Amino acid sequence: MENLIYHCPSCGFDGLTAEKNTLVCGKCGYILHYNHFGRFDQFTISDLYFKQQAIIEKEIDENPNFFLSGEVTLESYRNNRVCEVGKGVLSITIDAYTYTGTMDGIKTTKIFPTVNVPYLPSDIGVNVQIYEQYLLYQFVFEDKKLATMFVHAGEYCYKLQSKAEKNNCD
Ligand SMILES: [Zn+2]
Repeated sequence: MENLIYHCPSCGFDGLTAEKNTLVCGKCGYILHYNHFGRFDQFTISDLYFKQQAIIEKEIDENPNFFLSGEVTLESYRNNRVCEVGKGVLSITIDAYTYTGTMDGIKTTKIFPTVNVPYLPSDIGVNVQIYEQYLLYQFVFEDKKLATMFVHAGEYCYKLQSKAEKNNCD
């Protein structure tokens, strides 16, 4: 759960740690208690999730140079199985995802325009998946909360970029 909900509602720090039925803020010590109503104290999980979404959207709106990155293991299909095929860094800006690292032992830079990625599938707290020409690029994050942050950021960047493209056609 700490990979889905990472934002402290008290101090705004991004980094909560799961302990038994609680999430504890690594900065201010604020404790969210998971209760039998399926909530964290007064918050529903979707309250907390959409708050995170709103914060990242605001950051992107306010910063044209928005940038988020993290270390990843790259996985893809080889002989019908998902295998590790490389290691590197995945980053996102408003216009593109960029992977810099290795792939099948070769130094690689792959750029995926956000406008081509309307939906970013994710095993929450583990990875995000980008498909290009029927090939799977599955990025497994070292820092698990980044999977959720990339989903928040990526889908918003897609919205902005697809709007921008439409305007260019007018
Ligand atoms: Zn806090």
